[in-house]
Amino acid sequence: NETSVTVLGLGRMGQALAGAFLKAGHPTTVWNRTAAKAERLVSEGARLAPTVGAALAASPLIIICLTDYPAVRELLDASENDLAGTTLINLTSGDSAQARATARWAEQRGARYLDGAIMAIPPAIGTAEAVILHSGPEADFAAHRPILDALGTVSYLGADHGLASLYDVAGLAMMWSVLNAWLHGTAMLRTAGVDAATFAPFAAQIAAGVAEWLPGYAEQIDRGSFPAEVSTLETDARAMAHLIEESEAVGVNAELPRLIKAMADRSIAAGHGAEQYPVLIEEFGTPR
Ligand code: NDP
Repeated sequence: NETSVTVLGLGRMGQALAGAFLKAGHPTTVWNRTAAKAERLVSEGARLAPTVGAALAASPLIIICLTDYPAVRELLDASENDLAGTTLINLTSGDSAQARATARWAEQRGARYLDGAIMAIPPAIGTAEAVILHSGPEADFAAHRPILDALGTVSYLGADHGLASLYDVAGLAMMWSVLNAWLHGTAMLRTAGVDAATFAPFAAQIAAGVAEWLPGYAEQIDRGSFPAEVSTLETDARAMAHLIEESEAVGVNAELPRLIKAMADRSIAAGHGAEQYPVLIEEFGTPR
């Protein structure tokens, strides 16, 4: 496999990325501010570039993975390379505005640019478990897809460079809400001597059941119409009150259901009590 690639940044994640490219047989050039972190990769066949400029010049595809966007900009601003013909794929975590601003910067420098978000830990890189999201021009993703496949399960989200970051944080929103709901339920059952392991499979079933509602609820949100097909928000709010009361009665923290009920109450006060649950999307905001 002849396609060469450069990896800028050899922290925990950058080393995993470079290692996966090497394993897949891609000639790999690496650079890191602290050069010692390249030693293992060099022993595995990576070429260590002496400067950022040399690293940028070594390959048509540059993968960047530093701490944050300010570090990325500081590093790239210091280089004077002609970036025409070079594609930068920035897998550093950041927000959508930073992604879009870096895309504009790259365009001004004549580079092609994709933004990405890694939804995996370093040991998973190179396996199907590692989900890596990309956004930016589709043709650039398609052109480099074969080499990106070495990193894990790569996907393309759309032309807006901010999308990878937005999907990344939307995933975090899902993750913490599901986990905290489970912790809350576990805390309640523990008051009756049921341990976490006993509740876990039951909780997983509920989460999977709720997940099945999403496509239908999404249709309501996209249509902007929320007929109460199975229950009304008012009915749900009564169940929320019950969850709060039971939590308090058994001595479990009720902050989360109180927060959820406060949102439902506002929505009911705004006249949505007879509509279905996803009408609450309005409490989260509507596109500007
Ligand atoms: P590390 O702290 O291990 O590595 C940070 C890297 O950034 C190092 O190579 C460091 O260089 C470099 N760096 C920081 N500031 C500068 C600078 N001003 N100029 C040049 N280089 C700089 O972090 P990770 O590798 O774990 O994370 C990298 C990115 O990957 C982050 O955005 C993180 O959010 C993301 N990520 C990480 C995951 C993980 O589980 N680790 C999971 C998903 C995403 P030096 O070695 O010289 O200090």
